[in-house]
Order: sequence, then structure tokens, then C-alpha cells
Amino acid sequence: MNREETQALIENVMDTLSDENGFLGLRTEEERLEVCGSAKEILKTTDKVIKSYIRVSRENNGIVRIPAYRVQHNNISGFYKGGIRFNEYVSEAEVENLAILMTIKNALHKLPFGGAKGGVHVNPKEYTDRELNLIAKKYVQVFKTDLGPNHDIPAPDLGTNERIIDWMVGEYKTIHPGESYLGSFTGKSVENGGAKGRRESTGIGTYLSYQWMINDWFNEIADREEVERKEQWETLEALHEKHKEDGHLNVAVQGFGNVGSVAARQAMNDEKLKQHVVAVSDRDVTLYNPDGLAIESLDAFAFSHQRLPATEKELTDLDIEAEILDAGDVLTVQSDVLILAAVEDQINRENMKNVPAKIFVEGANAPLSPEADQYFEETGKIVIPDILVNAGGVIVSYLEWKQSRITEEYSESKIIDEMAAQMTKTFKRVYDTYFYSDEDTMRYGCFYLALSRLTSLLYKHGKL
Ligand code: GLU
Repeated sequence: MNREETQALIENVMDTLSDENGFLGLRTEEERLEVCGSAKEILKTTDKVIKSYIRVSRENNGIVRIPAYRVQHNNISGFYKGGIRFNEYVSEAEVENLAILMTIKNALHKLPFGGAKGGVHVNPKEYTDRELNLIAKKYVQVFKTDLGPNHDIPAPDLGTNERIIDWMVGEYKTIHPGESYLGSFTGKSVENGGAKGRRESTGIGTYLSYQWMINDWFNEIADREEVERKEQWETLEALHEKHKEDGHLNVAVQGFGNVGSVAARQAMNDEKLKQHVVAVSDRDVTLYNPDGLAIESLDAFAFSHQRLPATEKELTDLDIEAEILDAGDVLTVQSDVLILAAVEDQINRENMKNVPAKIFVEGANAPLSPEADQYFEETGKIVIPDILVNAGGVIVSYLEWKQSRITEEYSESKIIDEMAAQMTKTFKRVYDTYFYSDEDTMRYGCFYLALSRLTSLLYKHGKL
């Protein structure tokens, strides 16, 4: 979904809300139209877009000037919050779209944060550590008046990590001596006040989104006759049957970074829902084995090489049995669940009909185009959308931010348990809303819940 598509979805949902008798206790249609119309204008548009340039002197290449952004979409729910990505595709429109999605994501999960996003137009793989350190520090310098623990709190995102965040915190501290700085960024290293378990949190949350649906939610719901979304329900039932008959489900994972590799490991080790991870991919290859891949060994290799093994020799040395396929083949191999944990726009009008999975899990942001989302909806498949699936990171950010305020350190199990409990609560609200109605996609349902909450806050704060 690009920025325009996100804005169109906001518009669509706000129009539905204004049609709902009794929304916010507003009795007349005129009142609702006025309130929802104003909320729509506020939520479709962005509070602040800040663009700047970072100049870095490259080790062998003179001085380069790199575009950098911080976009603050909305703070009605709380301080602006969202990651900073270092990526060669960063553009103002993309960062703005991601900032809007952060507002929606935080509202959906009832976090006390608004939405923001940052971006630097670089491919971090092409820069040395010294250069990256300079870029990180300069980012904080150029946006210094716009960031802060009680205003806008960044975190890592695509292409950034705890090391880069630690450098940014160091710079923040230098610029604002004597101020409390630990709550200024989240996603810090544990030694620097970060939350234990954050690195794994998005992958674990991503995994839980479908595991919890297929297992707990499906088993627990009582009034099955009332389910309106019949085809998707049949899909879930069929997966149950298959699980019983075959003894496992087949899972494919696109992307083997922080999210994909952790989700794959969770799938491998699940006692409740047995699974074979049949395919994993990175930028260069797909590894495929219909009997299941040895994820632990792949993980160890990927950790030290920053990529998957890509030759027969590497596989033999690791004693891993797998077929080496093209990177894009992860989408078309036979799987029940496809976890999309790479980058945006992976399944669209061109290839959607060739993807056999039944459940799509958006670990990355926006891997499906709206056409693909709609097509899967119409063909009885289940798409679990990004803002629901990949919130583990920002939920743990919230715990980290809280931890820095009370100067207490939470244990890893407390962090992961709280994150899982918070996510499960949201899954339940969304899955109930989705399966007991037959309107539109699950993404629409998520936007509906988030936008109702945001409109109600805007209304209560007297902003409409
Ligand atoms: N970058 C992550 C996201 O998109 C985390 C953001 C945060 O923790 O602020 O959700």
C-alpha cells in the first residue's frame, strides 16, 4: 500500500463510521458527518514533514549529501513514535505513508503513542562503520529540535539496529546535557537501557498472529454458527484437518532477517501446532525442502554471514538438505502459511494468482498490494495485515520507554509475556470483528478499530 492507498482506506473507513447510527453517541447524521468529516481531514493529512540533508565525508569518495526525513503524522494518542530506516528506496512519500501507518498501528494496539517515521536515503551496506556512525549522529543533529522523550521517540527500522540507535542516543545526550535521555530512543542495546528480547519481539509477534488464530482462537470460539465469513472459516477448518492428517502444516518464509528467521524458529519449535518450514529466502536465493529445513543451522550460518547459504557446497558443508531456487520462488512453492518478512510490494496483480498459500502473514510493512489483498479475500484466503502482525517491536518499545522512566529493568520473560498478552488481546478483537462480519478485508477491520479510537480521542479532546 502506498501513501495514496492508505489515505483512500482512511477515507473509506471514515465514511462508514459517519454512517453508523450512534457512533460516539451522535444521534443525527448531520452531526456524525461533521465530526467524521473533520476527523477524516486530520487523519488523512500529516502534522509535520521535515526534510533535511546530511553531509558526510566518505572515506574514498569526497563529500556526499544525503536526503533525510522525519515525518510526524499525528499525536492525538500520545508522543510521536516510529522507527528510522536507512534504505536506498527511502522517499518522502514512503516515510509519510509509514508514519500514517504507525499512527494506525499504535491506535489499533491501544498504545499511548502517536505515529511518526524517519528515513535516510542510503544503502547501509555501502557505507563503512565510521560513515554510518557519522550519519547517525548527524541525523540527531539535524532533527534535534523535533525529537525528545516527551515529544517524538524514534526506534530502529529497516537497515538500522541497536548499534545505530546507541550512537544516536550518545549524540542526543551530548546535545542535551543534563536532560534525561534514556527515553529519547527505543531499541537501544540492553547495556544501554534497552529492553531484553526486543530483537526477537517482532518475529515472535509475527509468528503468534497466525499460530494463535489457527490454534487458540479457532479452538476457543463457541458460536461457530454465527461466523459470517464462511470461506475463510472453511480455510481455517481445512488447515485443522490437514494438520491432523499430515501431522503438520507447511510454512514458507520470505526474508531471513530479524523477523523472518525468528518466526521460522518459532514455527519449527512449536509443540502445539506442528509445522515444517519448507522454504526460506533472502535477496539472492530460496532454499526449499518439502520435508522441512534445518532452521537452526541456517540461522547460525545467516548470523555469521548475513545471508543464507547459496551454493551446493555451502549446503553440503552445513549438512543441510535443500534445493536452491530463485529468490522469488519462495512465493510459489507449496505452502499453507506464507510469512512475508522482507520488503514491500512482493505480491501484486502480476503474480498473485501464482501464490498457493492459504494464510498470508505480513511481517514486513505493505508486502501485498491492495489488489492482491482483495483477490485473496475473494478467494477465501486469510491475509493478516502488517499493522496487526508486526507490532511486537513497538509494543516492546513501549515497555522499554516505560522502563527508562521508572529506571527499573524488566526481565526478558516479562517483556515477551507482556508483548504476547497485549498482542493476543488485539488479535482477539480483530479476529472477532473480521470473522463475525462479511465486509471487506481484515486490513479494513484493523483500520476500522484504530480509526474509531482515534476519532473518539479527537472528539473527546475537543479537536473536531
Ligand atoms: N520500526 C518498528 C515499527 O515499524 C518499531 C517502531 C518503534 O518501536 O517505534 O513498528
